[in-house]
Amino acid sequence: LEAQFLRAQRLESIGTLAGGIAHDLNNILTPILAAAQLLPLKLSHIDEQSQQMFKIIETNAKRGAALVKQVLQFAQGVEDERTIVQINDLFSEIKQIVQQTFPKSIEFSTNIKSDLWAVVADATHLHQVLMNLVVNARDAMPDGGTLNISAENVFIDEQYVRMNLEASVGPYIAIAVTDTGIGMSPEILDRIFEPFFTTKEFGKGTGLGLSTVRGIITSHNGFVKVSSNVGRGTEFKVFLPAVQATATSLAENLELPKGNGE
Ligand code: ADP
Repeated sequence: LEAQFLRAQRLESIGTLAGGIAHDLNNILTPILAAAQLLPLKLSHIDEQSQQMFKIIETNAKRGAALVKQVLQFAQGVEDERTIVQINDLFSEIKQIVQQTFPKSIEFSTNIKSDLWAVVADATHLHQVLMNLVVNARDAMPDGGTLNISAENVFIDEQYVRMNLEASVGPYIAIAVTDTGIGMSPEILDRIFEPFFTTKEFGKGTGLGLSTVRGIITSHNGFVKVSSNVGRGTEFKVFLPAVQATATSLAENLELPKGNGE
């Protein structure tokens, strides 16, 4: 617990520090971007090479701004609004994005179950969690492969809790994101949840994806498990506390509470 507390405290100070820097950096990048876009319009003649250089300034200022936005989101956290989330709806949204934007060499599959238990969560945050995981899966499969997302009901018992102190006895939904990509060595696996830890080349990764995933899942009283084999692939499993009723029946019950006589 002591270690957990210290980690939380360290994460918080990293967050505050990063948030401060990101805020200042934003004020620096905005005029750079504006000047890079306006200057070419002001000049009466500009040669091809200068045009390209303006483009480089613009592209990179935009890239910096996107990074800053991600850091700010991580540091400030976004508002949290809990509703009954239909995991299947979430899967449909992710499926659409993956099929429209990921390379064709990545085969996508998912299971849609109708009897999943209900989860009370922030839908936008869960969307973010799944997006971060599928983007990592994509990046782990530069030569293509299979990406699968699935969900199942899991009842966690006392025996499980004894080995996994983050869990408590009760119903959970386990969401698995698996890929057949490059996998991770134990040394990398050890560090993936650290803010700013990345093995991706400069500009490609911020190292905030999985710390955000962990932050969101922890705030929902859930937990994350990872297993990975170098050269074979990786499975991320996100456990979220659930209510032992389907989302639809829970929504109906909340609207129309049943009398005691039933
Ligand atoms: P980023 O994606 O910006 O690097 P993350 O926190 O999302 O930041 O991930 C941290 C690191 O964890 C990645 O750079 C990568 O080394 C490793 N990683 C995450 N997901 C996977 C995966 N599915 N397969 C292989 N490595 C992964």
